[in-house]
This record gives sequence, C-alpha cells and structure tokens, in this order.
Amino acid sequence: MLKVGLIGWRGMVGSVLVERMRAEDDFALIEPCFFSTSQAGAPAPAVGRSCPPVGDAKDLRALAACEVLISCQGGDYTQAMHPRLRAAGWSGHWIDAASTLRMHDDAVIILDPVNRPVIEAGLAAGLRDWIGGNCTVSLMLMAFGALFRAGLVEWMTSMTYQAASGAGAQHMRELLVQMGQLHGAAAGLLADPASAILDIDRAATAAFSNGALATAQFGYPLAGSLLPWIDRDLGNGQSREEHKAGAEGNKILGTGAAPIPIDGLCVRIGAMRCHSQAVTMKLTRAVTIAEVEGLLAGAHRWMRLVPNEREASLAQLTPATVTGRLDIAVGRVRHLAMGHEYLTAFTVGDQLLWGAAEPLRRMLRLLVDRR
Ligand code: NAP
Repeated sequence: MLKVGLIGWRGMVGSVLVERMRAEDDFALIEPCFFSTSQAGAPAPAVGRSCPPVGDAKDLRALAACEVLISCQGGDYTQAMHPRLRAAGWSGHWIDAASTLRMHDDAVIILDPVNRPVIEAGLAAGLRDWIGGNCTVSLMLMAFGALFRAGLVEWMTSMTYQAASGAGAQHMRELLVQMGQLHGAAAGLLADPASAILDIDRAATAAFSNGALATAQFGYPLAGSLLPWIDRDLGNGQSREEHKAGAEGNKILGTGAAPIPIDGLCVRIGAMRCHSQAVTMKLTRAVTIAEVEGLLAGAHRWMRLVPNEREASLAQLTPATVTGRLDIAVGRVRHLAMGHEYLTAFTVGDQLLWGAAEPLRRMLRLLVDRR
C-alpha cells in the first residue's frame, strides 16, 4: 500500500478532501498518516482505520518516509517545505492545492476529466508534482473543456461570480455576519409593514459606510454588494485571478505554443461556496445549439445540462442548488445576436469540490491504480 502523508487536513480544503476520501473509501487503499504544523502528537482524525498520531508537518524525515504527500496547507508551507524535500533527495509524488508550483515546467495542473492525457504524459515523463488548478479555472474547464477539445473555441471571456469560500473559511463567516448585520440595521423598520421602503433602504445603505458591518476579512461590505477585484493587482489592469484563466487554462488544456485567449473579469459575490461564470465564446465555425449540447453532455458524468428555459434555470442553475454537489451545472446556452459563431452560457460549480479537493483525491487514486 502507498504510504500517503496528508498535510493541511484541518483546513477548509483539507476537510472537504478528507470527507470525500472517506465517502469514496480511499483510505482503505492507502496507508495514511496525518501531519500538522500545530497539532503534532494529537490523535489522527477518524477515517475508518487506525493511523499513527499526527506527525509534525516540519519533520523532513517523517515526511520523506511517505511515497505520496498531499498538501492543502497553503502556499507558504509549499514554498518552505517542497524545495527542502526535493533537495534532500525525496522522489515521492507531491499533490498540492496551493498555487505556488502550478506554473512550474515540471508540475502538471491536474483536472483528469479534462486533461487525463496531459497527466498520463507527465507520469510517463517521470514528473512528480501534481497541482490542483485555480478553482474558477478548474470549474470553467469542467464546464466547457469539451468545446476546447473539439477545437471549437477561438477565444473565450469568462465573467465570474465567485463565492466567499474561495477566500477562505474566515471570509465565509464574515459574509454571514455581514448579512445578519445588514438585516439588523433595518430590522425595526422591516418588522413594521407600514414602514416606507426608502427608509429601509436608507438604513441598509447607511450600514455600508457607518462601520456597522464587519469587514476585517474582505476589507469592504460584500453582503448586499459585490467586490469587482479578486487577488493581487498585476499593474496592467488585470487581477491575478483574471490572469490565471488564460495561463492555467492553457496549461491544463496542454495547448503549448498555440494558446487560446481566455480572459475576463473576476467578481466576488455573496454566495457561500459555489462559483458561477457567464462565458462568451467566439467559435471557430458556426455550430448549432444541439451540437454544442451534445458535446457538453458527453464531456463527463458530472455534467448537468440545464435547459435554457426560465423555470429550469431558476430552479437548477444557482449556487443554492449546486452547493455541496459534484455536479457541474451548465445552462443558458444560446447564440448571441452577433451571429452563430458567438455562443454564451452560464455555469455553476462547488468550488471546494471540483474547484479544490476532488482533483487531488482523484490524482491519488490514479497513483494507487498504477501500483
Ligand atoms: P485554511 O482553511 O486556512 O487551512 C490551512 C491550515 O490552517 C490548516 O491545515 C491548519 O493547519 C491551519 N489552521 C489553523 N487554525 C485552524 C482552525 N481553527 N481550523 C482548521 N485549520 C486551522 O486553508 P484553505 O482555505 O483550506 O486553503 C489551503 C490551500 O488550498 C491554500 O493554498 C489555498 O490557496 C488552496 N486552495 C484553496 C481553495 C479555496 O477555495 N479556499 C481552492 C483551491 C485551492 P495545521 O493543522 O498545521 O494547524
């Protein structure tokens, strides 16, 4: 059995990963050991089999005893430990949720329903670093990868509606706190059916600027508003999150010297853990909607096509319905007024599942199956 070390299992991505591994019985196929930077010596989490006590995540020798290490600990940890392990001669497989190594030449961004051939080629070439993609990029390609594979996409723009969870657990908490505070600002007026709507609006609006909302995490009100910038400012008008769409998207697709332009604006909204995206594609030829839907439907077994109709879209194509599920919902598929080479669509996916944990556990299964 592969000896697999898990680091970062207490965090948000790591907890979802362990939950998924339990659900899929992955722990029965490996010899797991858990590491932590703060809980060394504590009992390991319950995973249906006995495990040694939690190890020290800074203990190079203990880590190097594992054939596979899975880290959901974050970029600083990867930056600190990965080079030291490699320098010490560790030649195991490193599976990581952090972005640190994603664009390294000898790392593969893993999203096997989309890029299994790229992963297989990496394995054949002896590569050892397997990195989960940015959540928004992974969800975009889970939704529309089949159209890229069919050579149909000349370019794509993606306008995102990203959930609080993409920024971390504390941000999810703050979003809910803000929602409560916003309600509290107008609660007295709301309780009175005769109160004037403009008074309610004024009370809520005042909360945006009078310090009534907790903003320690986001820096600004998100509840009742949105934030049109995610991650660092690259200084060229683009955010780092927006840059990842083209950079990581093309690396996942393995387009090599002929990258496909993918760009757009990334926006944080008040959803908890589902990212949504509205995309526009310029196609390489005019295509019927039936052909597009046929390609999408055949992409993978998690695809859930939603008819481009009002009731179906409102009932099935929302963060509220997709949250906690592996489904990749795609709908609103139609031609734009610019012509039959211009396609629009909307997609929703749980960013903690396909956007973070699922590609990692599936890469582990791939390694287990190769034994
Ligand atoms: P996180 O929730 O902040 O957890 C990271 C670590 O914080 C834990 O493993 C734990 O390490 C420590 N920690 C300290 N106090 C804790 C507490 N009260 N509860 C739980 N853990 C605590 O990080 P994350 O959001 O899962 O992200 C991990 C990595 O995945 C990052 O590199 C991130 O960029 C990447 N990623 C995140 C997402 C996302 O949606 N959030 C998506 C894709 C990739 P110790 O056990 O060592 O104390």
